[in-house]
Amino acid sequence: MTEKMAGKFYKRVLLAVIMMISLMITGCAGMEVSTGADKSVTSGQRSGSDLKVHFIDVGQGDSALIEKDGHYMLIDAGERDQGQTVVSYLKNQGVETLDYVIGTHPHSDHIGGLETVIRAFPVEKIIMPQKAHTTKLYEHLLDTIEEKKLKITLPEPGAVYELGGASFQILGPDRDYGDDLNNWSVGIRLDYGSNSFVLCGDAEKGAEEDMMANGLSLKADVLKLSHHGSSTSSSGQFLDRVNPEYAVISCGKNNDYGHPHKETLEALKKRNIKAFRTDQSGTIVAVSDGSKVTFPGQNIKDENVSHTENEKNASQTGEYVINTNTKKFHLPDCSLAASIKADNKKISEETRDELIQMGYEPCKSCKP
Ligand SMILES: [Zn+2]
Ligand SMILES: [Zn+2]
Repeated sequence: MTEKMAGKFYKRVLLAVIMMISLMITGCAGMEVSTGADKSVTSGQRSGSDLKVHFIDVGQGDSALIEKDGHYMLIDAGERDQGQTVVSYLKNQGVETLDYVIGTHPHSDHIGGLETVIRAFPVEKIIMPQKAHTTKLYEHLLDTIEEKKLKITLPEPGAVYELGGASFQILGPDRDYGDDLNNWSVGIRLDYGSNSFVLCGDAEKGAEEDMMANGLSLKADVLKLSHHGSSTSSSGQFLDRVNPEYAVISCGKNNDYGHPHKETLEALKKRNIKAFRTDQSGTIVAVSDGSKVTFPGQNIKDENVSHTENEKNASQTGEYVINTNTKKFHLPDCSLAASIKADNKKISEETRDELIQMGYEPCKSCKP
């Protein structure tokens, strides 16, 4: 066993011991305060820290850092002059090693900053599509990959990789797209608990069709719009298949391409998909606890959302599932509501305010 391997082995043993101890502690606590029913359903499904997806503001381009349990993946790094911005951002987040780097496709607004990143951090696995490109920038990147003794892993649709307690599946590219560089984009679906994110670089409508045909699940809470919100991507059919609650658009202020395109924004609006844009908000961070995605610090201005929330708060009755044992109430579709024992489960006839007056607490997961 080498020293490095032995170190890894002891780390794993230590982790296992810590996990056992914390399981024992939460097990006991669960019995004392009798919230065991609520917890049982999530064990094995969610564990460890929150999943964070950072959509880093790199102007006109893409760069996303994904973080779970101290493991990190970087997808793209903007133009070459953004490399240092990305490196500084990663250092601020405490990144020391990148478990994965994905260079979605050989366009400079995606792989431009990667050389700087690969020189700054050890990288365990680099995933790039099998599409050669003859720009100096791309050749420099390949030279750096070779210099660092890294081997490019080709994306195979369906392949699944672990990132701490989360995982991601390769969705594309599905075939040879000739010189359509955008369609060669590596697409992934990132999963944690019941939450998913879909990110597909600059994949256009043709590649979207292939991803819809290949049988892999595309359903996600958050879709990073492909090609910076261009109307050449995000077909209505694709949006319906992903059926996201949120969209993130990575683009530069007043960019030369008019991204995001009006047609795309209208298609989102029609479907009640709330959009966040790096040209308006700067870096955007999405946080998933395994059952709910939030965007801390982002203003959700969507009028439809606040309207339905007000309605819900004021007048709905018979819409909550209450646990008479834990004194918590849930939305009917909350996964925790499903785990309540039949003896303790009741459908409320009271409004939200009445339940609170009666001493019931809204569930922290579904936030009724
Ligand atoms: Zn591109
Ligand atoms: Zn691009």
